[in-house]
Amino acid sequence: MKIAIIGAGIVGCAMAHALLDEGHEVLILDREGPAFGPSRGNAGWMAHTDILPIASPKILRQVPKFLLDPLGPLSIRPSYFVKLLPWLARFVLAARPQAYERSILGIAALQQLALPAWLARAEALGLAGHIHRKGGLYAFTDQAALAEAGEIARRQAEFDITVNMLRPEELRQLEPALKDKFVGATFHPDTAHISDPLALTLALFEAALMRGATFEKAEITNISTGERPALIGRDGFQRVVDRAVVAAGAWSKPLAAALGDRVPLDTERGYNVSFPGVTGLTWRPIGFEGHGFVVTPLESGLRIGGAVEFGGLDAAPNHARTKTLYDKATGFVDGLPAFETGTLWMGFRPSLPDSLPVIGQASRSPSVLYAFGHGHYGMTQSTATAGLVADLIAGREPAIDLAPFSPRRF
Ligand SMILES: Cc1cc2nc3c(=O)[nH]c(=O)nc-3n(C[C@H](O)[C@H](O)[C@H](O)COP(=O)(O)OP(=O)(O)OC[C@H]3O[C@@H](n4cnc5c(N)ncnc54)[C@H](O)[C@@H]3O)c2cc1C
Repeated sequence: MKIAIIGAGIVGCAMAHALLDEGHEVLILDREGPAFGPSRGNAGWMAHTDILPIASPKILRQVPKFLLDPLGPLSIRPSYFVKLLPWLARFVLAARPQAYERSILGIAALQQLALPAWLARAEALGLAGHIHRKGGLYAFTDQAALAEAGEIARRQAEFDITVNMLRPEELRQLEPALKDKFVGATFHPDTAHISDPLALTLALFEAALMRGATFEKAEITNISTGERPALIGRDGFQRVVDRAVVAAGAWSKPLAAALGDRVPLDTERGYNVSFPGVTGLTWRPIGFEGHGFVVTPLESGLRIGGAVEFGGLDAAPNHARTKTLYDKATGFVDGLPAFETGTLWMGFRPSLPDSLPVIGQASRSPSVLYAFGHGHYGMTQSTATAGLVADLIAGREPAIDLAPFSPRRF
C-alpha cells in the first residue's frame, strides 16, 4: 500500500520504519523538514517507568499555588486562559479518581511496550549506540514528597517497574555533582536516555530514506475522506494514497477536526538551555521533584529544561522562564556553565488532558490513522505507537487495548 505520514517528528520517523517493515511504500511529509517540533530539542529521557497522568487529584490541589508564580513550573498566559478553558475542563474531569486510575492503566500499557520497541528498532538499524542505559533519578528536597514517592513506587511495582529509594549519600555517590540539598531520591534503573533528540530523529529519518521511504516538503491543510484519502496542501499540492497517518504533533488538531474528530489537543510549552560540549558533569537524567525541571547529560552537551506553560502555538517564547529553571539548577548542581554560554530553546508538547495520546482510526475515514498527542513522552512512546498503528493498518489485533487512546474518548 502507499502510505503517507504527515509529520517528520520522532513519531512520524518511527512510523516510517514500522510501515517499511510491512513492505509498504512510505511517503513522509513535513512542512519544514525532519525534527522541527519538540522532537528536536526535548530532554532525551526514555522515561517509560513514568506511569502517572498529570491530571490527578493531587495536582488540582497544587494548581492554585503554581499559578501564583508566573515563572513557576506551571503557568497559563493570561491572554490564553479563555482559549484553554475547554482543555482545562477536560483536565479536571480526567483528574477524578476513577478517570485517573483508567489513565494509569492506559499509560502503563503503552509505556511497557516503549523500551523493548526502541531497543529492537535501534538494534535493527544499527543505532543502538544512541541509547544509554544508566537509569534515571528523581531527587527530592521535600520529605513529604519523598514519602509519597515511596507509595508511588509500590504502585509502579504492580506494573513490574523497579524503583529504588536512595538515601542522600547514595544519591551523591551516583551523581557527585549534586549539592548536599536532598532528602533522598528515587532511582529508576531501567530507564534510559538518548544521545540527542535531534541526532536520533535525523538518524531514524535518514535510515527510513535509505530503506526506500521518500520525503516531500509540504504543509497539509486538509484530508479528504473516502477509500483513498487525498492529502491537500498549499499551492495546489495533492497526493492520493491508500492510507494516511496524522503524526503532526501539536499541530494535528485541525487535521483531525477535518475528519470529524474534535480532539481537545493543546500544547504544553516547555523550555530549556543546553550547553554544547559540556559532558561528564552528571551521568543520567535527573528530575528535581516539585521544581519542574530535568538535567540530562546528552552527548551533544548538558541540557537543563522543563516547565509547562500554556500559551498556544503562536506566542513568542519567554526565556525568563528558562533563566528561572537555570537559576534553580545552580542551587542543586555544582559546576554549571554560565547561562549566557547556553543555547535557548522552546518546544510544543502535544498534550491531551488525560496524558494519553490519540492512536486510532479517524471517524470519517478508516483509511486515516492518528498517532499524535504524546505530551511529555513522545520520544519514549514513538516506536511503540508506530507498531500499534502498523497493527491497525495490517488489520491485526494490536498488542494492547487501544480503547483508552481512541479519538472518540472525549
Ligand atoms: C521541553 C520538553 C522536554 C521533553 N522531554 C521529553 C523526554 O525527556 N522524553 C520524551 O519521551 N519526550 C519528551 N518531550 C516530549 C516530546 O518531545 C514530544 O512528545 C515529541 O517530540 C512529539 O513528537 P511528534 O513526532 O508527535 O511531534 P513533533 O516533534 O511536533 O513533529 C511533528 C512534525 O509535524 C510537522 N507538521 C505539523 N503540522 C504539519 C502539517 N499540517 N503538514 C505537514 N507537516 C506538519 C512539524 O513541522 C513537525 O516536524 C519533551 C518535550 C518538551 C517540549
